[in-house]
Amino acid sequence: SHDPSSTAVVHSLSGRSFTYGSLLHDVSLAKEELMQKTGKDENGIVGERIAFLVENGYDYVVTLLSCLASNAIAVPLAPSFPASELRYILNHSEALALLSSSKFSSLAAEVTKEGLDRQPHSIPIEKRIHGATSDTPVELSGAPHHAEGGMMLYTSGTTARPKGVLLPTLTLSAQANSLLQAWEYSPKDHLLHILPLHHIHGTVNAMLTPLLAGSTIEFLFPFAVDSVWKRLAAPFMEDHQINGSSTKKKAITFLTAVPTVWARLLQSHPALPMDLLKASKEAIQRKHLRLNISGSAALPTPTKQAWSELSAGNTLLERFGMTEVGMALSCGLADADRVDGSVGWPLPSVEARLVDPDTHEIIEAGQDTSADGKERTGEIQLRGPTIFKAYWRNPEATRKEFTEDGWFRTGDIAVRKPVPSAGQGQSGKWAKGPAWFIHGRKSADIIKTGGEKVSALEVERELLGLPEVRECAVVGLVSEAWGQKVAAIVVLSGSGHTAGKGGKPWGTMDMRRALKDKLVAYKMPQDLKVVEEIPRNAMGKVNKKELVKSVFGDEG
Ligand code: ATP
Ligand code: MG
Repeated sequence: SHDPSSTAVVHSLSGRSFTYGSLLHDVSLAKEELMQKTGKDENGIVGERIAFLVENGYDYVVTLLSCLASNAIAVPLAPSFPASELRYILNHSEALALLSSSKFSSLAAEVTKEGLDRQPHSIPIEKRIHGATSDTPVELSGAPHHAEGGMMLYTSGTTARPKGVLLPTLTLSAQANSLLQAWEYSPKDHLLHILPLHHIHGTVNAMLTPLLAGSTIEFLFPFAVDSVWKRLAAPFMEDHQINGSSTKKKAITFLTAVPTVWARLLQSHPALPMDLLKASKEAIQRKHLRLNISGSAALPTPTKQAWSELSAGNTLLERFGMTEVGMALSCGLADADRVDGSVGWPLPSVEARLVDPDTHEIIEAGQDTSADGKERTGEIQLRGPTIFKAYWRNPEATRKEFTEDGWFRTGDIAVRKPVPSAGQGQSGKWAKGPAWFIHGRKSADIIKTGGEKVSALEVERELLGLPEVRECAVVGLVSEAWGQKVAAIVVLSGSGHTAGKGGKPWGTMDMRRALKDKLVAYKMPQDLKVVEEIPRNAMGKVNKKELVKSVFGDEG
């Protein structure tokens, strides 16, 4: 239980803050309002889908928690989605109501104007300014759980149309409890929240779990790289340098982001004014920023290294998760457990196994290398209380993605390798055995060429290690001779189509020469396309099918 007078939420830009006591008070008010305005009683609201469009901040937290407290199914919508996508989700989830904050009332009106399969109640949410504090300790985890209540999140849509993933409250608590154990969130943590809230990363890792732990969440919204630096640095600036405000800000202890955001933070750092430059370097050292976490897509090693250099050794901690399972694998808190290129070990209460996708044979730990010395890659399969039970109204997909004995097929391929120096520290309790390394998605990142399997992620890692390459995506193209051939799509580090500071051109032969000692022949990209930009979705992910089509056209 939490101290009701402790701070639950801060709005970074305005400095407004809200206590746990006021949060509890407002959640129960919002729950009453929800039932009243939808005309449902305690039983009628159970399992009903309640969609909402609210900006990141206190009102968002209240809205989401009030849905959970009512045993409804919260359906968070992203204001950045086009109206057609929002309509798809409203139709697909058959939402009973669409709640919207004043900022999004016209968007909500536009979305519901044309007929929907089930016309939702359009409900403006009240600004929560009551701020009333109760004296009783707050129990966030003690909300009444009904098997049907929870949250529905849509997958990122990287490989197909987003699927609705039903996450019952019990599953969400299991996910939060698992993370709580591994990352040791506490009331002392002050987390800077810079993520969208319609994905598991922003919701479970950066909101529900810290709330469960009694930490403070500071929402920086709207997100901008410069504002992040300013906020991180603020507590370490000389007093007179803090713009007019006299109250000292708390140091940020916890920051989680996607790899592209870490890369953008690094890119923008050298251009900061001198005082900010110094203070921000202080702010990101381990003694202040306890945890800096990366996930949602593969973390390029150069980004990890550059961050370590800037922060005097505050290594980024990488983890692997997905909408359907929350977080599944994670590196540990100890430095030795933040293994380069690895996503660590199965988190507490997550059962994980590797299964050969061709033979369906389970690869036991210790058999990760085959007789001829090759690494054995397999699909990650997961089981346990943190795993979702079903896709919403899609029994076919649900059936396909689970094995007969109840393991979820992630579609992601990995390999395990022993890392003797790891697993000794405080995370040793759960970070056991060989460490896991992601090779990519079975459907898009595993390239089959001349009977060999190539991990796009592995080749991408090598490319990103070259000074000429800023960004890249490795893909498989149809090849008559080889089945598929490896090709690289690259954004060069110089301006326009040039590499490096000298601005030299860089072509297929240059790439192959640079990679010669790093990749065996069959992994070597045959083709190179230089592009200005690699499009990514909100979570920093690349839709490779679309990318191949736009870059190579019919060749793909
Ligand atoms: P869709 O299922 O709609 O195609 P999606 O799989 O991208 O979209 P999410 O559930 O948001 O939707 O993302 C999960 C995927 O993100 C994982 O299956 C994995 O491929 C990728 N991923 C997450 N973390 C990492 C990581 N640390 N390294 C590599 N890949 C990661
Ligand atoms: Mg997916």
